Amino acid sequence: FLDPNYIRDRIRTVPDWPEPGVQFRDITPLLQDPRSFRVLIELFVYRYMNQRLDLIAGIDARGFIVGSVIAHELNLGFVPVRKKGKLPFDTIAEQYALEYGTSTVEMHADSVRPGQRVLLVDDLVATGGTMLAGSKLLQRLGANVVEAAAVVDLPALGGSKAVRASGLSLYTVCE
Ligand code: 5GP
Repeated sequence: FLDPNYIRDRIRTVPDWPEPGVQFRDITPLLQDPRSFRVLIELFVYRYMNQRLDLIAGIDARGFIVGSVIAHELNLGFVPVRKKGKLPFDTIAEQYALEYGTSTVEMHADSVRPGQRVLLVDDLVATGGTMLAGSKLLQRLGANVVEAAAVVDLPALGGSKAVRASGLSLYTVCE
């Protein structure tokens, strides 16, 4: 029942989006189907139910969808890692490189207490830049980042390798 193929089969590849040459992996069919959405969440819940986590951090925006449900199921709180300029209170920021230009992610400065065991969640790892920036924010707040987790890994882009090379454990459901 908890078969990663069941997840992979419900992820659609959209050619040339958002720009020519990009094969965008679209998880909306997976979320739309109640059975595959449930299988996805159960895969994460079984992996983390005995890990003594304190908090789930989800990355803007698809990491919110998956991360908040995992948090709810594990009876944990949820904190957002947001794109620049969206959070209203005191923030800390991390800038990271994109193919062209840079991007910035932010967290509320009071969203994690030092020593808390945190799982960082996003939908997909491509170059790994987003996951690494989120992990840096959490570490600056004193978190113990137990693992990073995503639905999809695009190993050809090298991100999962880079994340693991940084010393951060990474779990992905499928490629
Ligand atoms: P990275 O920082 O690893 O290069 O890119 C990962 C981030 O960009 C994630 O937050 C993810 O949501 C988004 N992203 C990049 N490419 C794709 C894609 O093909 N499909 C989806 N669903 N998200 C992508």
